[in-house]
Amino acid sequence: MSLAGLCRRGWAWAPALLLALLALWSYYAYVVELCLVTLTNSLEKVAYLTVFHVIFVLFVWAYWKSTFTPPQQPDKKFHMSYADKERYENEERPEGQRQILAEMARKLPVSTRTGSGAIRFCDRCQLIKPDRCHHCSICAMCVLKMDHHCPWVNNCIGFSNYKFFLLFLAYTLLYCMFIAATVFKYFLKYWTGELSGGRSKFHVLFLLIVSVMFFVTLTFLFGYHCWLVSQNRSTLEAFSAPVFPNGPDKNGFNLGVGKNIRQVFGEKKRLWFFPVVSSQGDGHFFPMRTLSEARNPLLANEEQWEEDDGVDDNHHDYHHSPSLSVEIDT
Ligand SMILES: [Zn+2]
Ligand SMILES: [Zn+2]
Repeated sequence: MSLAGLCRRGWAWAPALLLALLALWSYYAYVVELCLVTLTNSLEKVAYLTVFHVIFVLFVWAYWKSTFTPPQQPDKKFHMSYADKERYENEERPEGQRQILAEMARKLPVSTRTGSGAIRFCDRCQLIKPDRCHHCSICAMCVLKMDHHCPWVNNCIGFSNYKFFLLFLAYTLLYCMFIAATVFKYFLKYWTGELSGGRSKFHVLFLLIVSVMFFVTLTFLFGYHCWLVSQNRSTLEAFSAPVFPNGPDKNGFNLGVGKNIRQVFGEKKRLWFFPVVSSQGDGHFFPMRTLSEARNPLLANEEQWEEDDGVDDNHHDYHHSPSLSVEIDT
């Protein structure tokens, strides 16, 4: 890798490093300066330290998993085989290339299309994009159910770590809320002169300012993501609705709030609150709200929809589709 590339990669870690340093400082300021130096009541000390450590462990765990869980790439069967690639490259006519893609897509559970109704194909990764998958130019790869690329964790948030990211937001909020609530009393005592102490006063003051600041900002972000989960939409899909053979539908994957939550957090409620893998499915296929409606000839063009009952072997016949063309991502 070139020096410039190396610098760019190093620089990309700056926001995440800043956040980690801030978390380390907040740990020191709370445990040492507030609990060990400022607090005098030992019962209060033990209670604060216990609750603080439980929240801190959950917060760091979720942050770690959001940062270091690699984004998941589409399965091999979505990649162009060597033979297909050779055929595709030797084929000069666009219609011929479309035909090759349509043939490949017929074996795959893909339902979403480009705006022009074409099979979604990633030119850079040379693969047919599964539903809800997008190419991330920063990660330089296709990411399953890509939500967004988050600079604060220097990672792509997608199918593999969306639950971890939500828990990271939730535990950061809880962490800030707990700090602000317990620090406030001592902040007032320092402010009114009831307590004196140069260094601790400074740390306690900043603990309150930083925790309130993060709490306010993250409340909006967390609220937005709670709404997205309830609607079964990724951030990318909220900006541009997924396109189905019948046209764009922002509620295409919306199965109702309960099912939408279980899709991200899983069936076992006891796993919901821990950053461990529990999301439903494998990230390549997502049940669709319109599956049953699409079979209704009044609502859909049956010629375009030949849906099997099986979940993984949906089969689409696009022989008659005149608008099939290759999507080239820019
Ligand atoms: Zn790609
Ligand atoms: Zn990315």
